[in-house]
Amino acid sequence: MKKTLYLKFIFAYLLFAVFGFIVVATFVSSMTTEYERRETADDMYREATLIANTYAADLYNSETSLDSVQRQLRSIGTFLGAEIWILNPSGRMVASSAEPVDPSAELYVEGFDPGAAGDAQYVVGDFFGQFDAPQLSVSAPITGGYRIKGYVCIHMPYSRIVKSVNSLLNISYLELVVLFLLSLIILIFFTEMIYRPLRRITTATEQYAAGNMHYRFSLDSEDEMGYLAASLSYMAAEIARQEDDQKKFIANISHDFRSPLTSIKGFLEAMLDGTIPPEIHEKYLGVVLNETNRLTKLTNGLLALNNLSASGLLLNRRDFDINRMIRGVAESFEQTCRLRRAAIELVLTGEALYVNADEERIQQVLYNLVDNAIKFSHHDSVIRIETTEKHSKIFISVKDSGIGIPKEDQKQIWERFYKTDLSRGKDKTGTGLGLSIVREIIRAHGENINLISTEGVGSEFIFSLPRSAKNDELED
Ligand code: ADP
Repeated sequence: MKKTLYLKFIFAYLLFAVFGFIVVATFVSSMTTEYERRETADDMYREATLIANTYAADLYNSETSLDSVQRQLRSIGTFLGAEIWILNPSGRMVASSAEPVDPSAELYVEGFDPGAAGDAQYVVGDFFGQFDAPQLSVSAPITGGYRIKGYVCIHMPYSRIVKSVNSLLNISYLELVVLFLLSLIILIFFTEMIYRPLRRITTATEQYAAGNMHYRFSLDSEDEMGYLAASLSYMAAEIARQEDDQKKFIANISHDFRSPLTSIKGFLEAMLDGTIPPEIHEKYLGVVLNETNRLTKLTNGLLALNNLSASGLLLNRRDFDINRMIRGVAESFEQTCRLRRAAIELVLTGEALYVNADEERIQQVLYNLVDNAIKFSHHDSVIRIETTEKHSKIFISVKDSGIGIPKEDQKQIWERFYKTDLSRGKDKTGTGLGLSIVREIIRAHGENINLISTEGVGSEFIFSLPRSAKNDELED
């Protein structure tokens, strides 16, 4: 592609030039010749008619002498660059602008036929064998008393027409050359605006095709080319980012699966080879069971995430009372709270508050958020769950006064497997998948989740859900 597009354009350009010259040399040339011949003949015929009606008529009426007419003819002939004859209908030369006619030596135009020109009013040729070189000749009748007394014939060398046509054609050629040179501007535009950008885009696509998704390029233009380059560059950056994410994801999964597996393997081997005596097998089987639970939790989390991204927006939406759900979730955490000496405070708007969402998935969101809030809280602290209604949205907030999330981690906690350094001491069983699942679910609903957190003070997760119209029915 590199060379051909440019060559094709140059080829088209040369073709334009060649055709331009051919058209000028053929069509334009013949049209100009035809036009020039007709125009000159018309002028000559008008002149001949004028002479026929004035000097020649006077001559035939004997109002003027032959000498004076010949003088007049000579001066007009010189002026026109033509030869003017006055002929009798029989072809006898009466007067000529070339040389005075000798009345004693009669000169005849043999075979003179005034009708030879037909409708064209002019003939091109040697005028009945009178000239060596071709002439353009016109003949106008001299009339008097309702009959033709003679003819005024004007002859102009045909070479003069050819010369004038050639001069005109030369101007046309010159114009064509100027036009051709001016159209070079198009070539320059093509090179600068299409060819060069296209080459850069091609180079970039070659790099991307070769797998170098980190290749960066941009075009300084705001037209379609610039837009194409920007889109391409953006697409490559996105693919590169996804590739990196994928790699990170696989590395994280491997790591998270490997540590429980290593520990299970270690304990089982130790039990089999007797390093751990049978009396205390039960204790270690408990540890193994814990690790297996962790693996199950991990697998379930991954499956949940996968289902969410695969099914996308396939939600089972219906109207349900979010306040009731929150009460239920709080109850299910009672035992955990007791162990951690934590309390859950509910600040709910109204008795029942209906939202339109996927009940099962929102329950999972609440469960994950409350679970985190308890996990990352200090002893004797309070976790507050609040519902508020604003316009057509219901906002649900889960707030704790726990360890908080450092500012630099706040963006990443939504990523799969991400755990803050701060939390590692508090929670060893976490998978780092909970918040990714939460965000996927909220996004699938077309809603948002936000975090407000200060390290060492606490965190608040707030998400929105669409308000159900059922609330209005209940109010009425
Ligand atoms: P995990 O299973 O580890 O809880 P999550 O995706 O739910 O996974 O959370 C990711 C990380 O975000 C946690 O490991 C923790 O570091 C941080 N985090 C989440 N919720 C809180 C919270 N309420 N307070 C402090 N840190 C939190």
